[in-house]
Amino acid sequence: MHLILKFRFLLIVSFLLILVFSFNRCQNSNNQKQLLENSQIKNFGIVIHGGAGTMSRKEMTKEMDSMYRNKLEEVIRVGYLILKNGGTSQEAVEKSINLLEDSPLFNAGKGAVLNSNGEIELDASFMNGKTLNAGAIVGVKTIKNPISAAIKVMENSPHVMFFGSGAEEFAMKEGLEIVDPNYFFTQKRIDELKRIKLDEKKSSFINDELKSIKYGTVGCVALDKKGNLAAGTSTGGMTNKKWNRIGDVPIIGAGNYANNKTCAISATGWGEFFIRNVVAHDISALMEYKGLKISEASKIVINEKVAKLGGDGGVIGIDKNGNIAMEMNTNAMYRAHMNSKGDIVVKIYNDE
Ligand code: ASP
Repeated sequence: MHLILKFRFLLIVSFLLILVFSFNRCQNSNNQKQLLENSQIKNFGIVIHGGAGTMSRKEMTKEMDSMYRNKLEEVIRVGYLILKNGGTSQEAVEKSINLLEDSPLFNAGKGAVLNSNGEIELDASFMNGKTLNAGAIVGVKTIKNPISAAIKVMENSPHVMFFGSGAEEFAMKEGLEIVDPNYFFTQKRIDELKRIKLDEKKSSFINDELKSIKYGTVGCVALDKKGNLAAGTSTGGMTNKKWNRIGDVPIIGAGNYANNKTCAISATGWGEFFIRNVVAHDISALMEYKGLKISEASKIVINEKVAKLGGDGGVIGIDKNGNIAMEMNTNAMYRAHMNSKGDIVVKIYNDE
């Protein structure tokens, strides 16, 4: 009897000890999780682009030059402040792209280029580097801010890509601003389409002279204080596009990609070549599997792979440590960058 009592006592004590031990472990791992959640990385940062192309210095007046630079600076400062105040990379990317979409200077949202029927067809995509979730919309004509619609597809649907009138219905249901297609039209784009249609009769779909007025896109990549990456890209596509042509912008991995393990990338340029080279994902893959730096990976993909097939354009990127890339094989790409210290860079031409 005495022995049985002793045994019971030992059993109860060991059970209590196990209980206390596991409670402690649980507490520790919760504390660690909390610490990790609260920890902030030092090198947050943001990069934007307003499209790459063949831009001639001769055609760019002083006023135009400063208009572009001022807009880029205004936008990057807004995105930077969101990050500085503890906002997420997703918030910074969405807001920065909204501002670029609302500006008639760039080929996205207001100011988008026209297709061969003289209509607007907008594409956009977004990717969250933490969840690897993504959203895209294609060929829409009435959504004021396509990047916000792409984010809603990611957040509020089980799908990744919506097209045309379905995408527009979805955006309306989500409470996004819907506008008359006339909102997007600018005289500059109407004139460009006329000029291309005239030149088209004498030349092929792409020639060097026409490239400058065919291209454009806006994009933003950001790393926030929690170490989360995000990438967004929004465009009107290429002037005079036919047959509901779709470029790289809404294709996850081609014109846009983000992964917390590696980097966030947004592309601009001749979309067909960016699709064929799976540009944005390829840069991430070179970093993940080969250990390349973001600058090395972007150089290889843009200046070797895309260029070798005959394509042109550029990318902006930021990696998980805040290192950035702004790579192009064209003579220009509207671009700007701010790091966590508040240093700002705004550039247009390749040789700046
Ligand atoms: N990549 C876009 C497209 O092909 C155009 C551009 O970025 O200039 O639709």
